[in-house]
Amino acid sequence: MISATLPDHITGLLVDGEWTTPQSGQWLDIIAPAEGQPFGRIAGAGRADVDAAVASARRALSADWGRLNAAERGRLLSRAGLIVQERAEELAELEARDTGKPIAQARADITACARYFEYYGGAADKVHGDTIPVQNGYFAATENVPHGVTAHVIPWNYPAQMFPRSIGPALAMGNAVVMKPAEDACATTLVLADILREVGFPAGSVNMVTGLGAEAGAALSEHPDINFISFIGSSETGVAIQTAAAKTHIGCTLELGGKSAQIVFADADPALVIPTVVAAITQHAGQTCSAGSRLLIERAAMKTLLPQIVEAFSKVRVIMPHMEGQLGPVISSRQKTRVERYIQIADETGLPLLASGQMDPGLSPDGYFIQPRMYGPVPRDHRLAIEEVFGPVLAVIPFDDEADAITLANASDYGLVAGIWTSDSARALRVGRQMQVGQVFVNCFGAGGGIELPFGGMKKSGHGREKGWEALREFAAVRTILVRHD
Ligand code: NAD
Repeated sequence: MISATLPDHITGLLVDGEWTTPQSGQWLDIIAPAEGQPFGRIAGAGRADVDAAVASARRALSADWGRLNAAERGRLLSRAGLIVQERAEELAELEARDTGKPIAQARADITACARYFEYYGGAADKVHGDTIPVQNGYFAATENVPHGVTAHVIPWNYPAQMFPRSIGPALAMGNAVVMKPAEDACATTLVLADILREVGFPAGSVNMVTGLGAEAGAALSEHPDINFISFIGSSETGVAIQTAAAKTHIGCTLELGGKSAQIVFADADPALVIPTVVAAITQHAGQTCSAGSRLLIERAAMKTLLPQIVEAFSKVRVIMPHMEGQLGPVISSRQKTRVERYIQIADETGLPLLASGQMDPGLSPDGYFIQPRMYGPVPRDHRLAIEEVFGPVLAVIPFDDEADAITLANASDYGLVAGIWTSDSARALRVGRQMQVGQVFVNCFGAGGGIELPFGGMKKSGHGREKGWEALREFAAVRTILVRHD
């Protein structure tokens, strides 16, 4: 069993560089999804707490934080990356307990977390403006200006990755940040914020307001003194965030849900495709925005590749976080009920069950475990083919030919990522360039490790880009300066 907990000195909210208790007087339990039991508490911030955090960030911009140059900001971020590497095991254990994911996945998340700090630390002093040739007698240049106070609202599925992914580029560009992590899992984000404090981020540059979405999240996104919102979460909450941003005339990036297609042609390499399509829907119990939840398979491969995928899926093991296996529980009893409802719909509508995963006998009876399921063929208009389940449920949908595959893949309200599996490289490119998504993977899949790769959606999956260099552009406005010198 994993027994990691929050350090005692992290007593609630981070405001003005100090841990404080909430003015609201509210506290929320931290529940371990694999145990179904609380193992600590977080503050439930109210409007007054959010006001204090935003005011703290505003002050930081004209105090020590605002006076640092880009290289100094980058050095602080890089230093944080080193500390995360040094404390990797402690952070991984806390992440595994708090989210329920296998410790191996949590370790990979912490490695990615350190990489985000390293990447944005290195980038901070390399974001240049341009000079622009104009008529004689004038000099024109652009510079990148931080927005000011940026608000960051993130989900519970990968908190240790989302924290640096969201605030790393914002801090690199010189913004002061206020983060509202998810109430269902945010323990590691608090320890990470504490690491930023320890490495010397000046008071007020990084503020943390934990709490409920409808209270702390809404108070932050509607706050009149924030200048930008970076949101990662559901498409429904994305509408509330964008509405709030519109009311205060500020910009936002929205990284939302997905119903991503894995397009498997009959000439795909079985050694590559089989383990990856199974992992793409079972990783973190299917609670990954870029989960490959639709397996589109060429009819010609239904008797060759599909049985092998079914066999691999049947071997997937649901485990406790300290064990070796593919997936743990879902995040909460609410999420369990939600996913089980989809399974009920699949069963009631007579969808053929192709495979189900194995449950380890050592699972805690109070954990939120779900047996993974693979259904097919799923009719194209079935809810399982259309809606984001956010659980370990795979819908197999056959297609006739290349044109049919493209139509089917794009016939989704979402547009986050797509995977294409074929040994015909011309076809891979032809199909890939027609995908209405933000990322296309050919003979590989997964957004997880790609710190350097711009990531984001089209359609109901959102707009704006995180990760890579693109994210830095989102956290600054371009100011153009024209000087007459004749
Ligand atoms: P959610 O939208 O319910 O919650 C996300 C965050 O928003 C949480 O911190 C929550 O407290 C906050 N929130 C909720 N209501 C709010 C409101 N009215 N105002 C302001 N903040 C509010 O989503 P979730 O269920 O926690 O996460 C799952 C969803 O996130 C899935 O749809 C998944 O696909 C998506 N997701 C997307 C990405 C991506 O990068 N595209 C990454 C991870 C998760």
